[in-house]
Amino acid sequence: MSFVLKAAVGEPAQRASNPAVVDTVAAVIADVRANGDDAVRKYSEKFDGWSPESFRLSEDQVAEIVKSVPETVLDDLRFAQRQIRNFAQAQRDSIQDIEVETLPGVFLGHRNVPIDAAAAYVPGGRYPLTASAHMTVLTAKVAGVERVAATTPPNAGEAPPISVAAMHLAGADEIFVLGGVQAIAALALGTDTIDPVSILTGPGNAFVAEAKRQLFGEVGIDLFAGPTETLIVADDHADPFTIAVDLLSQAEHGPDSPCVLITTSEAVGRATLDHIEALLPGLVTNAIAGPAWRDHGQVHIVDTLAEAYTLADKFASEHVQILTEDPRQALTSMRNYGALFLGEGTCVPYGDKLIGTNHVLPTLGAANYTGGLWVGKFLKTLTYQEVRNLDTSAQLGEICGRVSRLEKFEGHARSGDLRAAKFGNAPLAW
Ligand code: NAD
Repeated sequence: MSFVLKAAVGEPAQRASNPAVVDTVAAVIADVRANGDDAVRKYSEKFDGWSPESFRLSEDQVAEIVKSVPETVLDDLRFAQRQIRNFAQAQRDSIQDIEVETLPGVFLGHRNVPIDAAAAYVPGGRYPLTASAHMTVLTAKVAGVERVAATTPPNAGEAPPISVAAMHLAGADEIFVLGGVQAIAALALGTDTIDPVSILTGPGNAFVAEAKRQLFGEVGIDLFAGPTETLIVADDHADPFTIAVDLLSQAEHGPDSPCVLITTSEAVGRATLDHIEALLPGLVTNAIAGPAWRDHGQVHIVDTLAEAYTLADKFASEHVQILTEDPRQALTSMRNYGALFLGEGTCVPYGDKLIGTNHVLPTLGAANYTGGLWVGKFLKTLTYQEVRNLDTSAQLGEICGRVSRLEKFEGHARSGDLRAAKFGNAPLAW
């Protein structure tokens, strides 16, 4: 019989935005729209205590910061970026332009054209999320975006060196040290000193995610990539210690980060609970991971793996790890998740930091309708058509006239009538 061994006791994160966050974000955006750079500086001072001469780093500043990063660290960043670039390039190569002849002499096609300018937000409030630079900047560059403006909040009162180095190595064309709504609004709307972009990308906290939501339409966005979520599906082959360690690896993202275990084995569920309690005190991020686990951790015991996959699909979690005898089953049994991690050989932090798949992933149910960030999000699929056979154009024209008049569009109908007359025998009746 299925039952809940540990339920979440905290209020679950809401899919609709928190009204206080909505209001704060709307006020900042309105101010940046009206007062440009002055408003950007005002909110950067207010929220981050940060007011440098220029929010954009000069080439000399970037070079100096990169020089301050130890070579071994740069080597690790280069390793991670190679993996992410290689996978992004393979994905880019899989996207084809097409052209087909659908009727005699009728050619329809599409081309995948990169967006001209993209913003890459690299979070940095709680931790400097350096790996987000690889995920956003590199992916945009592989897609062919000409101008990538990367931005990250200050950390402890200075430009976070490793994130800046990662942005630079990934090929960012402009690097800003500016965080939160003020950064998102400035890059979306443009100011006297910051040129606007066409799409906002990257993860962020509730303020950043809400700013992207409010600006969507004026600019594009990649997806709603908010506070991290994780879920593990396990059977009786799974190692409870590994499950415990891996759940806590994501609980430390934030005190509201949901961590869910769904297992067919009550023994695995109970042992995992014990391991988590034993591990938490020794985790230096215990102050965040502890409340996340206690308030939002869940353990569900189910009868069958089929039930486990159905329940996991309902969560539509950002990350789903499969620790079962045959993990690949999940590829065909599940449809709602940001990214799948199959088997004990991998783990969510591999995906977060270096393995090559993108870590900017849908949260709060967005996995019901989208996957994560990838090169395709930086491309516009633009269609075109040509009718070279004018007999076919005459036939299309006759039908176009009739179907347009069904909708009372006389102007549309006449464009069809004209071709039916010009290239065929139909008389013009107007
Ligand atoms: P962040 O850079 O997103 O936010 C920091 C900024 O928030 C600050 O610069 C500040 O300007 C602004 N801010 C803070 N308090 C504010 C307030 N009261 N009013 C207005 N603005 C305020 O960094 P973070 O806070 O560490 O959040 C990063 C988030 O990204 C985490 O929630 C993490 O889980 C998430 N994340 C998600 C994914 C994904 O793909 N879904 C990937 C990585 C990280």
